[in-house]
Amino acid sequence: MEKVKCLIIGSGPAGYSAAIYAARAGLNPVMYTGPQPGGQLMITNDVENYPGYPDGRQGPEMMEDFKKQALRFDTEIRNEMIIKVDFTGPVHKAWSDSGHEIHALTVIIATGASAKWLDIPGELRLQNRGVSACAVCDGFFFRKQEVAIVGAGDTAAEESTYLAKICSKVHLLVRRDEMRASKIMQERVLNTPNLIVHWNTEAEEVLGDQGVDGIRIVNNKTGEKSELAVTGFFVAIGHKPNTDIFKDWIKTDDSGYIIAHPGRTHTGIDGVFACGDAQDKIYRQAVTAAGTGCMAALDAERYLVESGQ
Ligand code: NDP
Repeated sequence: MEKVKCLIIGSGPAGYSAAIYAARAGLNPVMYTGPQPGGQLMITNDVENYPGYPDGRQGPEMMEDFKKQALRFDTEIRNEMIIKVDFTGPVHKAWSDSGHEIHALTVIIATGASAKWLDIPGELRLQNRGVSACAVCDGFFFRKQEVAIVGAGDTAAEESTYLAKICSKVHLLVRRDEMRASKIMQERVLNTPNLIVHWNTEAEEVLGDQGVDGIRIVNNKTGEKSELAVTGFFVAIGHKPNTDIFKDWIKTDDSGYIIAHPGRTHTGIDGVFACGDAQDKIYRQAVTAAGTGCMAALDAERYLVESGQ
């Protein structure tokens, strides 16, 4: 068993920002990276919207920068996963996948969320080469081009109208004959001239060798198949926050997002704080995740001071 002042679970922009702040505040943070060290930016090509990188940066390179900065202030980084927690006592217990037991005075949850994918041929192979789960991150690379996007919720509505401002034509594939998105978002979709909604339509395959050059679609009412010549394929069918191990202890919404105190990172359990996409289903940007990571570390530091630990 090991005692630590600050345990950080997760290693995306939120986790690393929390680490940098916690380390500089003398909390000697121990970070468990989780199964995808670096988080969602590891599957992103160019990041052009993170302030401070005027020429953009490759997602994995940016996460290497975050890591270097956290190491510079003596964060201990372990490429392991926390698989179980127990938040009953004043000391918070956690277990790693190697069986190591940690007792932490503070815990910062930065486990992020994972995009849901369709699991169709070509989707995984062409990820980062035309297939993306983030229009705000990658839409710019398809300016003046024809693209398709799958989904029917608020994210798909928002991202398809966003893409329509950049791309020449956007095909929105909706698997039913109605959208789940809010009325106002749907109206926006239907009133965008270069945004074409394909009702009752599903994507069957993403086509292309080095990059996307089309998709095969099927009308699930008529069974009619056709191809769309697009260079970008966006999937917007929701995200799954990586919060399963906390559910018995911490309040989450119906989708599993941690409910933090409004404007803060407190979870309702003293000394346990949440940041990044694990508690944010609206913004989900690297820069917003980093911001809340900083907040979580400041809240953890304040908690230790106020509780005299
Ligand atoms: P949702 O879960 O709301 O919607 C997912 C959509 O993807 C559904 O319409 C679903 O279709 C569709 N879908 C799921 N699986 C498939 C599949 N295999 N093939 C085709 N389509 C599929 O996720 P969102 O990310 O849109 O939203 C998550 C939450 O965040 C919501 O509460 C939303 O309101 C909120 N949000 C709010 C925003 C805002 O207020 N500005 C912006 C973005 C999100 P079906 O309807 O048929 O089940």
